[in-house]
Amino acid sequence: MTAPEFPDQIQLTIHPDLAAKARHLTADTPETRMQAVTAWADWNVTQGEGPFAAGIFDLTDGTCISAGVNRVVSSTCSLAHAEVMAIMLAQQSLKCFSLAEKGRYVLTTSAEPCAMCFGAIPWSGVCQVEYGATRADVEAIGFDEGPKSKTWEADLVERGIQVLGPLGRTKAVAVLQAYARKGGLLYNGGAGT
Ligand SMILES: [Zn+2]
Repeated sequence: MTAPEFPDQIQLTIHPDLAAKARHLTADTPETRMQAVTAWADWNVTQGEGPFAAGIFDLTDGTCISAGVNRVVSSTCSLAHAEVMAIMLAQQSLKCFSLAEKGRYVLTTSAEPCAMCFGAIPWSGVCQVEYGATRADVEAIGFDEGPKSKTWEADLVERGIQVLGPLGRTKAVAVLQAYARKGGLLYNGGAGT
């Protein structure tokens, strides 16, 4: 049996068409930002990927800094959730590891962050989180949200990060349900569940 590869790097990407569309977007209200990320989530399903999308926006003028979509399956990477993708791409764009150094930024996500993405938020430097579908909505179609405190919103507020949601829930849930109807893959970790 040949030894497995021992990689020294990983490449994570979003589709260039999505990046091209998002880079000229301005969305200066929570509602318009949610409409945008929900549309990206819907588009991601058509690409054979998970039903989740997120973006980082400048809170002062609504400029879109990055678009993230779930890339777990195509990247062979359980960490490639939409929120993590959006955060990493925004940090590359602004060339800083904490967005707070550059201004006031919001993470808008089509669904409530899972345990991992919740954990990533305080390190991202965003000052606000907006979400669409709830944990119950995500779990209703079979995805695992992980071990996250029931007080997660208050925990973020305590760190100076405002939380708005659920927003535009009906549309966000419709994307999840469409994914479930088409028999989309449930890429949960498995262990411990
Ligand atoms: Zn996540």
